[in-house]
Amino acid sequence: MALDLQDFMAKVIAKDPDQKEFHQAVEEVVASLVPYVNAHPKYEKAKILERIVEPERVIQFRIPWVDDKGEIQINRGYRVQMNSAIGPYKGGMRFHPSVNLGILKFLAFEQTFKNSLTTLPMGGGKGGTDFDGVGKSDNEVMRFCQSLINELYRHIGPNLDIPAGDIGVGAREVGYMYGQYRKLANEFTGVFTGKGRTYGGSLIRPEATGYGVIYFADAMLKTKGESFEGKIVVNSGYGNVGTHLIHKVNELGGKVVTIGDQYGYAYVPQGINAEMLDFIEPLWARDRRPAKDFADEFQVEWRAGRRPWEVKCDIACPTATQNEINGDDAKALLNNGCWCVAEGSNMSSTKEAVDAFIEAKILYAPGKASNAGGVAVSGLEMSQNSMRYSWTSEEVDAKLKQIMAGIHETCVEYGKVDDYVNYVNGANIGGFVKVAESMLAQGII
Ligand code: NDP
Repeated sequence: MALDLQDFMAKVIAKDPDQKEFHQAVEEVVASLVPYVNAHPKYEKAKILERIVEPERVIQFRIPWVDDKGEIQINRGYRVQMNSAIGPYKGGMRFHPSVNLGILKFLAFEQTFKNSLTTLPMGGGKGGTDFDGVGKSDNEVMRFCQSLINELYRHIGPNLDIPAGDIGVGAREVGYMYGQYRKLANEFTGVFTGKGRTYGGSLIRPEATGYGVIYFADAMLKTKGESFEGKIVVNSGYGNVGTHLIHKVNELGGKVVTIGDQYGYAYVPQGINAEMLDFIEPLWARDRRPAKDFADEFQVEWRAGRRPWEVKCDIACPTATQNEINGDDAKALLNNGCWCVAEGSNMSSTKEAVDAFIEAKILYAPGKASNAGGVAVSGLEMSQNSMRYSWTSEEVDAKLKQIMAGIHETCVEYGKVDDYVNYVNGANIGGFVKVAESMLAQGII
């Protein structure tokens, strides 16, 4: 029987009616896959899609910890082990009050295709907790991370599941989680990526996602004979992805004119310069301070309660969170002449926004393709840890560039129809084939 998107989605929704971000992620992928799967009936016969939307394993657990006042706090932790057909589970940990199972399933699902696109042997996983790091002392963060690992350590391992950072999880949190894992497991292995440089972290890993987005965007621009030189870029976040992305745009001669958070955004018409970036870098990553502090420090305009997508630009780079560009934002971007969108955050755009970009035939890269640089360098960190060796920055950066160029080529191969590259279809089909073939080869498990 042929695959039908509506029938398929009805079953997915009926199973977990509350998981709307997961439904959105599945629908986007399956919509791309329908013609491909129907042209290759072996996938439907083996129920590959039905299997691929079902996590191999979901772990949910209690995280009790004691705050600085001596009060007991309880958070909820999760790890979604989505698909290990092509390698051990790999994907970050998110610490944010909005975290729930539906969000982590969407992220783990996306991760499966993204990891496949990198060509490295990594399966898909994701985890997280509703812990909010804002306003917590360093000791509280440490005690929390230790308690989380007291349970999670038995479910992860260097050949089983290798977590990393995501929203709210940077080098500090990875360090505390890794330390506790090492103590409990009584071994020194590369079980986390995004580790500090002194204990096995890869050079360029912190920069990799932001740099990778710009390498991917640059490859898209080149298809139009264009470059970043003189281009205006609007950006949302100022965490790991946002700050490194700004660095790379500056290096290539572009101008990033915004950073923001859930409360508004700062507008810097002359572009964020090196001095400003030095101030921004620790603002969220280390100090968890609001973006308005940047506007106050440099006396630039703060637009409260507004989103950066209203600013005139050539290129838009969302780097905060899922669904941060909605249909109206997409219209505003298009009306203002934006002709390239490269996603740093995962599933940055709602379905309405994605449809608007594709209908307008602009260059549009979904996060699973354009932000894959982070996990790609995590894969390289795993290789270096296994070899007990480390590559130089230049070596890692060169490999990152090569991987991003390869992902771009894959998207073009599977997404080009006539003169337009649909990067959504390209990424979804390109990511699917390797996982599906591996599942077929390994039998019904
Ligand atoms: P960080 O925690 O370092 O930064 C997150 C940024 O997003 C902060 O500026 C934060 O500010 C903002 N943000 C978070 N939630 C919201 C919200 N609801 N509305 C507006 N702004 C928000 O995270 P990362 O930079 O690591 O991650 C950013 C995105 O990139 C995520 O979607 C993540 O999944 C994705 N990504 C990250 C990778 C990595 O290597 N780190 C790899 C691939 C993808 P505030 O909370 O104050 O609003």
